[in-house]
Amino acid sequence: MDLLYSSTRNSEKKITASQAILKGLADDGGLFVPESIPALDVSVEELSKMSYQQVAYEVMKLFLTDFTEEELKNCINRAYDSKFDTTEIAPLKFADGAYYLELFHGSTIAFKDMALSILPHLLITSAKKNNVKNEIVILTATSGDTGKAAMAGFADVEGTQIIVFYPKNGVSPIQEKQMLTQKGANTHVVGIHGNFDQAQSAVKAMFNDKALAETMDAAGYQFSSANSINIGRLVPQIVYYVYAYSKLFAQRAVAKDEKINIVVPTGNFGNILAAFYAKNMGLPVAKLICASNENKVLYDFFTTGEYDKNREFILTNSPSMDILISSNLERLIYRIAGNDANKNAQLMASLAKDGKYTVTPEMKEKLSDFYGNYTSEKETAEVIKKLYEDTGYIIDTHTAVAAGVYDKYKEATGDTATKTVIASTASPFKFTRSVMDAIDPKYDSMTDFELVDELSKLGNVKVPNAIEEIRDAKILHNTVCDVDQMENTVKKMLGVQ
Ligand SMILES: *Cc1c(COP(=O)(O)O)cnc(C)c1O
Repeated sequence: MDLLYSSTRNSEKKITASQAILKGLADDGGLFVPESIPALDVSVEELSKMSYQQVAYEVMKLFLTDFTEEELKNCINRAYDSKFDTTEIAPLKFADGAYYLELFHGSTIAFKDMALSILPHLLITSAKKNNVKNEIVILTATSGDTGKAAMAGFADVEGTQIIVFYPKNGVSPIQEKQMLTQKGANTHVVGIHGNFDQAQSAVKAMFNDKALAETMDAAGYQFSSANSINIGRLVPQIVYYVYAYSKLFAQRAVAKDEKINIVVPTGNFGNILAAFYAKNMGLPVAKLICASNENKVLYDFFTTGEYDKNREFILTNSPSMDILISSNLERLIYRIAGNDANKNAQLMASLAKDGKYTVTPEMKEKLSDFYGNYTSEKETAEVIKKLYEDTGYIIDTHTAVAAGVYDKYKEATGDTATKTVIASTASPFKFTRSVMDAIDPKYDSMTDFELVDELSKLGNVKVPNAIEEIRDAKILHNTVCDVDQMENTVKKMLGVQ
């Protein structure tokens, strides 16, 4: 029996995993969720002897049940190969009492690579399985990291086009240069005069526009999504939590069934939702610690039960978390509503209309798996500096937000004993200026690439390929548009009238 998927806003229509991957978002605007969360069917002893690719297969086969073993293994082996600069794929580094799970060893040095290196293969396999003839157009809104990782994954993949929208003034200089130098005849990058939420809302609106879908279909195109709303991104993200636990077990850092905490620097709620799914699969997890930057809408939600996006959008030094509408939270809301699509749809309608909703006391009680807090800009810089001075280990701004919240969690709860994994979501080389500024203001006068070399010396780590590549790379994209021109830009780029 296949595990089927339905929308968080209507559970009547059920589709297979490959169909959900192809569609990205449900027609009613909801997100696809599996009917149930499957339980892991291998023991931690077995997992602890496996490679990353083997663990990936054990986890993903349970969710993507309409893929054959050969199809799935093929996708996995093509994704997690020498694009990663370590055969471990996601190594754990111990520093100052916590295990940093380094998710940034892929081709664009952010954790998005963990899922976006496999998504194109899952998508192309899904298209074949479902006899899709149209060319697939990936529309993606990015807060900085998804865009590059998605383009790196989809560049020159036959049968696909990819169009990325990013906030023109809301990403780091290195992030922007990484995107604007992207090669591949099927890649398109557009800066918008607006923020990430506006980009994401406009992209979702295009997905939901039936007339637009018909126009595209007539021209031989159909849209899909590389954003974390796509189940094909969420499922590969569950893998590294299972992998991390099995590595801790292999190192005897945890005993069998010993629970760990997981801290995740959160924006769109995709990464931490994957950790929640891992817990529901049976992984021994105590608290899921949700870390926000000054855009602390999730902290307020976990504290009060009210989600309210009506507030100032703050540009921070952890730009990939500058988000006020955390799309994947909808999957959690659906879950704590008792998998009740109607109840969830009502709350989402209220979010669309008033920019806020409040969950019931019973729903709020079911959030006890989570602890939420936030780290201010000033605290984030202090965390980077202190960890560097105490241990020599240099972390990026997003990871520092998580480390800062972990400190607050320990202080608030007194729980210093539970072994804790912190998701380290980006290489410090991606946010070099903020990181170096935090360590010492004297670096202020250096250029971005001088800072890269300085960081390499200071942290005693080689400059990643992803950075070397863009030093002298040519800018290949220069389109900028207003938010209300995004649809026209898509049509123009595809030559559709
Ligand atoms: C995308 C991103 C995040 C946020 O992850 P979500 O899944 O959107 O919550 C955190 N850190 C970095 C570096 C990212 O690129």
